[in-house]
Amino acid sequence: MAAATAAGRFPPAGVQAVVFDVVGTLVEPWPPVAVAYEQAALRHGIACEATTIAARFAAAWRRQEMVDAAAVPAFATSRAREVGRWRAIVADVFSDAPQSEAVFAELWEHFAAAAAWRPLAAGSELVHEALRAGTAVVLASNFDERLLTIAPRIEPLSLAGHVFASSELGWRKPAPEFFREVEARLGHEPGELLLVGDDLELDVAAARRAGWRSLQIG
Ligand SMILES: [Mg+2]
Repeated sequence: MAAATAAGRFPPAGVQAVVFDVVGTLVEPWPPVAVAYEQAALRHGIACEATTIAARFAAAWRRQEMVDAAAVPAFATSRAREVGRWRAIVADVFSDAPQSEAVFAELWEHFAAAAAWRPLAAGSELVHEALRAGTAVVLASNFDERLLTIAPRIEPLSLAGHVFASSELGWRKPAPEFFREVEARLGHEPGELLLVGDDLELDVAAARRAGWRSLQIG
C-alpha cells in the first residue's frame, strides 16, 4: 500500500505484532448495513427505506456509544452488553415497532455469518505485507464474540494468529484497558505493537494514548 510504504517499511522496525481493527479496516458489511436492515424489516412487515434507516442507524449507534462512555468504568463490556447494544439500536431504528425484537434476532444472526461480510483490499494487502515480513498478525475489534466464528471463514481474517473480540476482552476501544488486555495476552510491550484501523479516534488516537504505534487506513 503506497501510503504505508512511502513512510518506510511496513511494519516499522521493532513492531512485534500488527493488531488490526476489523470492521472498516479488513472487512465491511455487504450488502451495506442499511440494506440488510431494510430487507430484514420487510420480512417482518416493516417498510422503511434504506436511506432513512442509514440516518437512524447512525444516530442510534452514537447513542449507544454515549451510553458506554458514560458508564462506570467507561467502555467496559460483556456478551450481555453487546446483545443489549444491538437490541437497542434495532429498536431505535424501527422506532420501537412491536416486531423490532424479531428483526433484531434475524439481524443478529445475519451479521454472525461470514456471507454478510466482504474483504477490503487495502487492509488485506497490509495483512499480507506483515506476514511476509514475519510479523504476527492479530485482530482486536469492538465487534463481539460473533467475530470468533466469522474470522476462520473469511480471508484475510483467517490469517490472524489471535482474534480478540470486545465482549471477550471485557472492554471496547477507546478504553485504555482494551489495549492493556491485548498487551497482556500477547506478552508484548506497548511500543512493540502497531494498531491499524479506520477510525481516527477509536483506533489511531486511542492506540497512541496507550503507547502503541498506529496507522489509519480506509
Ligand atoms: Mg473499524
